[in-house]
Parts: sequence; C-alpha cells; structure tokens
Amino acid sequence: MSYYVSVKRMNEILKELQKHYKVYAPMRFEKRGRYSDTDLIRYAEINSIEDVVYDEKSDFSPKEVIYPITQALFYFTEYEYMESKVDDKKILIFARPCDINGFRRLDTIFLKNGGTEDIYYKRLREKIKFILMECGEGWDTCFCVSMGSNKTDDYSLAVRFENDNILVEVKDDEFTNLFVDEKEIEFTPEFVTSNPTKVNIPEIDSQELLEKIYDLDMWKSYNSRCISCGACNAVCITCSCFNTLDVIYTENGKVGERRRVQASCMHEDFTTMAGGLGFRKTAGERMRFRTLHKIYDYKARFKDEHMCVGCGRCDERCPELISFSTTINRLYDEVEKLKKGEATQTIEQTASTEEVK
Ligand code: SF4
Ligand code: SF4
Repeated sequence: MSYYVSVKRMNEILKELQKHYKVYAPMRFEKRGRYSDTDLIRYAEINSIEDVVYDEKSDFSPKEVIYPITQALFYFTEYEYMESKVDDKKILIFARPCDINGFRRLDTIFLKNGGTEDIYYKRLREKIKFILMECGEGWDTCFCVSMGSNKTDDYSLAVRFENDNILVEVKDDEFTNLFVDEKEIEFTPEFVTSNPTKVNIPEIDSQELLEKIYDLDMWKSYNSRCISCGACNAVCITCSCFNTLDVIYTENGKVGERRRVQASCMHEDFTTMAGGLGFRKTAGERMRFRTLHKIYDYKARFKDEHMCVGCGRCDERCPELISFSTTINRLYDEVEKLKKGEATQTIEQTASTEEVK
C-alpha cells in the first residue's frame, strides 16, 4: 500500500519509529565541505524529516552507519577481555538503490568470504531495514545503470519527496499500522534507467590477458597524478578493508582497547610487510589493483556481480579529478586493443590523456 503523507504527519510517524529505531539519512553539515564555504552531506541520525537531504547525492556512503571509520571491537586487561556493545535499538536507513545494492557487496565480504562471519558487522547488519529514496534523474557522475545497480526491491519503505508532502510505499507489514490513517494513493518508486555517464566493463577471460593488463602503460599515468590520499576508498560504499590497532590506556601496556580503522588500498603503505617489503609501490600499481578489484576480482571470486555499484562518489571526491568511470573505459579500450593484437597506449600517449571530466 502507498500513502500521501504531509511532512508534519511524517514527523509524527518518525517520532513513533524512533521509539524502536535509530533513523539515519544523508544530512547537511554546513561549511564542513572539502572547499571553503561548501557543505558536507553525510549520514547521521536525523531528528526530523526536514533533516533528510534528498535532492543531492551524499558525499559519503551509508556504510559508516554499520562500518564506521573507527570502532572499538573489545576492551582488555592482562586477565580478561570484554566485547564492545551496541545500542539495543534497531536501525532504519534512508538509502539510494545503488547503496542498498552496495550493502549486498559488503554482506558478501563480511559474512560470506572464507567461511567466517564478522560478528561486529553482523550484530549491526541484522538490525537494519532500508527506506528507499527515489533518485529522480540521478546525477552526472552516476553510472549505476552500467553496473546494474540502479534498481532494488530490498526495502521496507520507499519515499518520494514532493515539497510539503511525501509519497510513501509501505512494503513491510511491521510499519503498516503507522500509516493506516493516511490518504491512500498509487505510488511505487521509479528507478533511473539511463545515466549521462556510461562505462564498458572489459571482458577478461584468460590469465594471459590478465597478465598483459598488468603491464599496460596506462597505469603509469597515475604515478604522477594520484597522490595516494585514499579519499576514493573512504567514500566508496563497497570498500571494506580495515586495519586493527590497540589503544593502550596504562603505562604497563596491558589495559586498553582494540579498534578497527578503515584502511585504503590506495595508501602507499597498504601492502607494506615486516621488513619493509611492499607489493604495490607506485600509485599506478595501486590504481591497477583498485580498478581490477572493483570490476574483475570480486566477480571472479563471487560470480554474481561486480563490486563497484557505479555510485560515482569516488569521481567527485578525488582531489586530483581522477575519474574512475573514465579509468574503466580507458581499460576497456586497452583490453579491446590487446584482444585485436593492436598496439596499446605508450606512457607518452597516456600522459597526455585527459582524465578530468
Ligand atoms: S568504486 Fe567509485 S563508483 Fe564504484 S562503488 Fe566505489 S565509490 Fe562508487
Ligand atoms: S585516485 Fe584520487 S582520491 Fe583516490 S587516492 Fe588517488 S588522488 Fe586520492
């Protein structure tokens, strides 16, 4: 069933929901953006429905709700340890289709990879239900259609914002009672069916081709361009790498907490081993890894879908204006040349390739 709900009524419904749920949505943080006098849109717990920023794409993804940048896993002394706790309340997240599809990738990594479930992820994931936010036309940097992540039916409620009213589809019986007094309407969410940005995913069908891809000169063009800041990983709904570190409280070094902290495959020391050995020393090698991870490795391992959902946040966040969608298309072109036996771009040619959108 679907309903036409005023913002005033929706705020009353929100208050009811908040008795049992923490409700997260993209919120505006004024003057906290990357450049002076720009705002930051990131996920946070909302107080009213007016807090929801529905007409802009959020700078950061909703993964932070369940997988924060840093979180305490457990506390320890020399004799015992105690797991960190989470709030008893359940969680509702206002999310776009690409991000809901992104959560499925995170589920695969944290819950189905190698036969071990990550309990710190699972204990929050089990609490989550989604409120789908319609995208309208989407945004310039989105390429969700190319990645097949523009649609989803994995939601409890779906909303379309219309000035002082909200159209709500209620799919989950748990929430039906909250809307019984509202005006019924015909509404199901519409999904974006075309993006201005499109990508072609290269078909990599042999180890021989993969090895040739490793040696492409196009990767070297990122050595001078990419500053290895990791901003692209921080905003990505599907990036899940982390490090652990112990925060020691006492001088004897035996009381403290273990934290996990998000890590970035684009950072210089991501692959550094004991003794200083590192496997991906240049920015280009790290870009090669990230690109193939998002549009080859994950699918090769888990079969169903690529890791990247085409949200385009990494394109918008990169301080060097490196466009990931352009990188994917460059790789596609180079792979096509390899398949036809044609010459691929030399480093001199790649240096002049303009990546800026
Ligand atoms: S790689 Fe970029 S476009 Fe793909 S899911 Fe991550 S942030 Fe979005
Ligand atoms: S691609 Fe851009 S955002 Fe990512 S590490 Fe390089 S400079 Fe930073």
